Amino acid sequence: MSQIPFSREHLEAYLDEALPPDEMACVEETLRHHPRLLEELRAIVALRDQGVHTLGAIWRRHRLTCPEREQLQAYLEKKLDAPTARYVRFHLQVIGCRYCQANLEDLQEQQGDPTPRQKRRRRYFQSSAGRLPRGK
Ligand SMILES: [Zn+2]
Repeated sequence: MSQIPFSREHLEAYLDEALPPDEMACVEETLRHHPRLLEELRAIVALRDQGVHTLGAIWRRHRLTCPEREQLQAYLEKKLDAPTARYVRFHLQVIGCRYCQANLEDLQEQQGDPTPRQKRRRRYFQSSAGRLPRGK
């Protein structure tokens, strides 16, 4: 019987998709040929269904350290004060919070060109004003 190569905390983070992308991939890869790991994950999920959470899971679930979406928006627009901007950058790049990274990508897309209509508008602003419109 083989040992489980990840800590319980690590698996909890995996379930919360709170690991950096390469570690997520690593757990997924290991899952494929490691039935014991799959069992362990199932056990954790079962415990969660019963309302048993580790402190780490609760902490991540409520995302106590995550910046607000408004802060991410301000970060994109470079409107944050320096310490807050540093914190957001740390959170995104060092902690590698997938939740906030996804949130930021979403915001970037909103600023970018998710729809043809916005694409046209963006082109218009870029050609007329040389930059993107503020706000939405
Ligand atoms: Zn976050």
